[in-house]
Amino acid sequence: MREFLYEQPARRVIFGIGTLSRLPDEVKRLGQRALVLSTPEQRQDAENVSRQLGKISVGVFANAAMHVPIDTARAARAKARELGADVYVAVGGGSTIGLGKAIALETSNPIVAVPTTFAGSEMTPIYGLTERGVKRTARDNRVLPKTVIYDPTLTLTLPARIAGPSGMNALAHCVEALYAPDGNPVISLMATEGIRALARSLPIVVCEPTNLEARGDALYGAWLAGISLGATSMSLHHKLCHTLGGTFNLAHADVHTVVLPHATAYNSDAAPEAMRAIADALGAKDAAQGIYDLAARIGAPRALKDIGMPADGLDKAADLAMQNPYDNPSPLERSAIRQLLENAYHGTCPT
Ligand code: NAD
Repeated sequence: MREFLYEQPARRVIFGIGTLSRLPDEVKRLGQRALVLSTPEQRQDAENVSRQLGKISVGVFANAAMHVPIDTARAARAKARELGADVYVAVGGGSTIGLGKAIALETSNPIVAVPTTFAGSEMTPIYGLTERGVKRTARDNRVLPKTVIYDPTLTLTLPARIAGPSGMNALAHCVEALYAPDGNPVISLMATEGIRALARSLPIVVCEPTNLEARGDALYGAWLAGISLGATSMSLHHKLCHTLGGTFNLAHADVHTVVLPHATAYNSDAAPEAMRAIADALGAKDAAQGIYDLAARIGAPRALKDIGMPADGLDKAADLAMQNPYDNPSPLERSAIRQLLENAYHGTCPT
């Protein structure tokens, strides 16, 4: 019998078209003074939410940025203190939710997350902070949002070039959860269902921008992916993406999209059961090939050279991937990882 541990942290998740209307009641359950967070690009969404919250909104902080720069986190914490905020409402993708986590880490106040991408960050206790170009991530249950509202209408403005890769980022959480050393049968069910939902919804999301059903389905996949990520340890794929994104300043979701078929191929012999589950959920013969084909179908990038990776950085990336040992189904070998990166750089078919 397989030995495992299953833990489900308590939190509240609300799904449905138009569920943003329930935000004021949800926020009131947790606090009286809400600070609304967003990126500068989504300031309008944050202002609308602040208006909707009425008296319980104490203000908007619209300076969230990718990878949570420490100066941004400090400015947001200062603003939260100055306004006496006791609950944070994060309206946006992983960057905005990450900023909420950075504030909650210091104060332990609750977060209400309103995700507007498919990255899945709202379901994890994982936070990241970037200082002097180095991003460090860690886990802490204080940063796990207490309530999450998944309303697909908020994703209608998400352009296909961001929507597709953010869904592929979620897919990567599901893939690595399926062979994680601390996985369990329930998480495997969620991860395979997450892959199914993302694989069927993303092609529609990018082709039919107003299709709310498909966007809701993608959020459903993102939810399951986030749970899977939060419950398990990630392996080579996440390590590579973390390294490439942080060291070469590449867009997070694009890196995930490009690397995932190659990292999956790297592990295919060592994790046959997971590979079968991934391939079945994708409706493909082979897991790595199925992921590569899905990226093509949604018009997402497939080569590191196309998303700003310098060719002379591949050796450094391979060296960094070998640092600080971590679990991975296939043994970590520098020359094989260097080859994986070479394949990802050119966007060749995964082998
Ligand atoms: P993002 O939050 O960086 O958003 C990308 C851009 O899209 C931003 O300009 C944002 O304002 C815009 N945007 C988001 N939703 C929009 C919408 N509905 N309409 C129009 N524009 C919209 O992208 P992301 O991929 O969600 O997040 C990436 C970040 O999240 C990375 O820093 C990554 O490390 C982090 N992340 C963390 C976890 C975790 O568990 N901690 C999980 C996944 C990703």
